[in-house]
Amino acid sequence: MALLITDECINCGACEPECPNTAIYEGGSSWSLSGKTYASIINDYFYIAPDKCTECVGFHNEPQCQAVCPVDCIIVDPGHIETKEELLTKKESLDLIER
Ligand code: SF4
Ligand code: SF4
Repeated sequence: MALLITDECINCGACEPECPNTAIYEGGSSWSLSGKTYASIINDYFYIAPDKCTECVGFHNEPQCQAVCPVDCIIVDPGHIETKEELLTKKESLDLIER
């Protein structure tokens, strides 16, 4: 599954540098994948690009963003449920392109 940042985010920025997939972006910033740029998903607080989040599978035993968030506002995204196998396949696909 991908994770989701809720509107309880206080914009501290602690999670963004911890993501091995560069899936976390500041609100209002565009996100990019494989050399293409896409419009911001959220404008007021940090957000996770679902196509890039592997729940840290393939890198770490636990989601690094959740581990550092001081207000515990990062949750499972109910709109993007994936199995561990699917997440590993996603990670391997990301390995082949520019994250
Ligand atoms: S769970 Fe891991 S891959 Fe997903 S946004 Fe958080 S740090 Fe990045
Ligand atoms: S660590 Fe938590 S509060 Fe800080 S920017 Fe990330 S989601 Fe928001």
